[in-house]
Amino acid sequence: MMNEDTIAAISTAVGEGGIAVIRVSGSEAVRETAKLFRSKSNIEEVPSHTVHYGHIVNPSSGEIIEELLVTVMRGPRSFTAEDVVELSTHGGVVAVKRVLELLLKEGTVRIAEPGEFTKRAFLNGRIDLTQAEAVIDLIRSKSDRAFSVAMKQAEGALSRKVKALRHSLVELLAHIEVNIDYPEHDVTEMTNAYICQRSNEAIDEINLLLKTAAEGKILREGIVTAIVGRPNVGKSSLLNALVQENKAIVTEIAGTTRDVIEEFVTIGGIPLRLLDTAGIRETEDVVEKIGVERSRSALADADLILLMLNVSEPLQEDDRLLMEQLRGRQVVILLNKTDLPQAMDTEEIERLFPSDSIIRLSVLQETGLDQLEQVISRMFFSGQLESADLTYVSNVRHITLLGHAKQSLLDAMNATEIGIPIDIVQIDVRIAWEQLGELLGDSVSESLIDQIFSQFCLGK
Ligand code: GDP
Ligand code: ZN
Repeated sequence: MMNEDTIAAISTAVGEGGIAVIRVSGSEAVRETAKLFRSKSNIEEVPSHTVHYGHIVNPSSGEIIEELLVTVMRGPRSFTAEDVVELSTHGGVVAVKRVLELLLKEGTVRIAEPGEFTKRAFLNGRIDLTQAEAVIDLIRSKSDRAFSVAMKQAEGALSRKVKALRHSLVELLAHIEVNIDYPEHDVTEMTNAYICQRSNEAIDEINLLLKTAAEGKILREGIVTAIVGRPNVGKSSLLNALVQENKAIVTEIAGTTRDVIEEFVTIGGIPLRLLDTAGIRETEDVVEKIGVERSRSALADADLILLMLNVSEPLQEDDRLLMEQLRGRQVVILLNKTDLPQAMDTEEIERLFPSDSIIRLSVLQETGLDQLEQVISRMFFSGQLESADLTYVSNVRHITLLGHAKQSLLDAMNATEIGIPIDIVQIDVRIAWEQLGELLGDSVSESLIDQIFSQFCLGK
């Protein structure tokens, strides 16, 4: 697991009289809570996924701070896949803060960063980035200003279409609402067919939007990633393996990938613009020279560089030259062809680059690609990789939210088809409406009810 330290935060809004939950996650979560928690059961020994009643006591003064319920969830069956403890209290703001302060006091537990639980869940393979709006919140919090600029730019054609889509969902919701609350009124009979038809129309619209999004901006954006290395080390093969199409020419003749080949891929949920550069080396061939020039400039612009070396051959001067050039850049070293007997002394490389950025792989046998994915997502979330062009964030967000809305509508359709009660179906439609609202940056608290009733003059 990548995160060793234990984090804590108040994970629900603290309201007067409401329940507040403090969530603690990490290897020390249970032990650190146990130090403060007085209960009939010792939570260090209880089974996973159990709830325990007790009190939080200040260990130095013996003062009882708060009465609460503690839930113990051992990893990997928890939200973050780490050990998680949740402390639920009915107390007000002051009591909850005091409990959190006590937890943080020893220094073993630190306060979580915004989105950090979700980030851990993602890094530990519990959730997929494309499904995780909360991870987008993390990105948002990292760059609030850039985000709002991106949101402004996104307004326009897309937002007009989404607004229209929301409007038709409000109409659908209004029909459903009327049917639930005023069955005696003379309104259109709400039939399953009607819901399905309207949901279907909305899904068609969303599919159209998704298509334009994919064809438009997203293809030109992402983290610019250059694959570099001497001819024949396996760059094009890697690109192909990542793209899972055979667009780049793979050949055994050195120097045939003459130009820069560009592919858009999503690795671990992170959008990358992958550039396969022609073998960078001194050459007399004019055509090849053009390719070499282009790959030099691709290299200069890259946010991330994957330097590929062939471990079945000794390290060469050209390899050293490249390593020299890449000093100070964001580099991942790919030691390829590990399926062949190793002829390279990798010590020199290990001295130049941190061990966590060196990956052994065999593109041919498709080993080590998972690790590449992990390293890229780690670099991205640690903030090492920041594309100069941040608009990709909002586009990934748009696509994510459109995908969610589409899924909610499909859920609504499925629910009606299997005869789920209409007030439950309504929830799915409502969720779709909210997801589209989020895309527009509307506040979630905006009154849906007001909008619905502005459509109908009930009780007239
Ligand atoms: P590039 O010039 O760096 O783009 O290299 P290519 O991708 O064209 O690959 C050159 C040759 O190495 C091809 O014959 C590939 O099939 C082969 N190759 C690529 N990866 C591996 C690997 O992991 N193991 C072995 N044995 N051969 C590989
Ligand atoms: Zn190639």
